[in-house]
Amino acid sequence: MSWRIFIASLRTAAARSAGALGDAVMPRLCAFCGTECTRCESFCCRGCHADLPWNDIQCGRCAQPMQLPPGDGIDCAACQQQPPPFSLACAPLRYAFPVDAAIKALKFRRRLDYVPAFGAILSAAAASLPADIDALLPVPLHWRRHASRGFNQAAELCKPLQRRSGLPVLTGFHRARATPYQSGLSAAERSRNLRAAFKARGHMEARHVLIVDDVITTGETCRQLAGAVLAAGAESVSVLALARAGP
Ligand SMILES: [Zn+2]
Ligand SMILES: [Zn+2]
Repeated sequence: MSWRIFIASLRTAAARSAGALGDAVMPRLCAFCGTECTRCESFCCRGCHADLPWNDIQCGRCAQPMQLPPGDGIDCAACQQQPPPFSLACAPLRYAFPVDAAIKALKFRRRLDYVPAFGAILSAAAASLPADIDALLPVPLHWRRHASRGFNQAAELCKPLQRRSGLPVLTGFHRARATPYQSGLSAAERSRNLRAAFKARGHMEARHVLIVDDVITTGETCRQLAGAVLAAGAESVSVLALARAGP
């Protein structure tokens, strides 16, 4: 064995030991408060987990937070007036502090260390979704925004789901044009802003697609993307987002 190979094998062994001892040497920290946490699998301590703004009562169709539980199979007033093209949406959290601050930090300050905690929350919520979902679709960013941000937060949140479910991630959809930031726009302006924003390349084999996003604000992005997915050949679309903004 040459010295070079010997040193390389020592380095590999050291890296393996560091991995095995990683939790003992560098305890995992809660993504929200930074304290060492025993809930290592979710990167969220018990206190923060209990204090998160859980979206306990939500419309079964669009995940809108509601004051009172809707009757069985009864959608919120907005869904009844204008049913969305997706069959159901689920958002385990409300878009309120500290979730809103954490999502903004993830997107605009590259705080990708939130992804394991968010991924665990999304994966737990995904357990209640229909079993026939056969593909995942993170909401695409326009290539220019993707280039400036360096990553797509929806795609990052999709990775833990993909690892746990083994489902394929669809890549045949793209934003046909750059849309200005949605925040601060009225519902009508958002709708105009996003019209025909998504395009599909070719026909798609998946039958029930799960759209994955970080936040549902008015639901317009998901409506537009679900429309494009159905037009590309899917039979149904569901939506899973980390958080849902209030009415
Ligand atoms: Zn914490
Ligand atoms: Zn609704």
